Amino acid sequence: MVTKLVVEWPLCDGNGVCTIEAPELLLIDDNDNLQVLNEIVVNSLLAKAEAAVRVCPKRALKLVTEG
Ligand code: SF4
Repeated sequence: MVTKLVVEWPLCDGNGVCTIEAPELLLIDDNDNLQVLNEIVVNSLLAKAEAAVRVCPKRALKLVTEG
């Protein structure tokens, strides 16, 4: 089973709140755009990914489990 962090890009306004919770997974680049550093969330980062999903004010993040 693989857990992926998925961005619904039309909803994301690049405010960067999620990057505070999970800097290993998410970054705001020099153009103020969100970058997903690791789409696949390893177990050790799952709690941080869940926190990022929770704090996104646009509800633009979700975790999807595959496999
Ligand atoms: S908190 Fe949500 S809206 Fe803001 S950059 Fe992250 S995914 Fe985009």
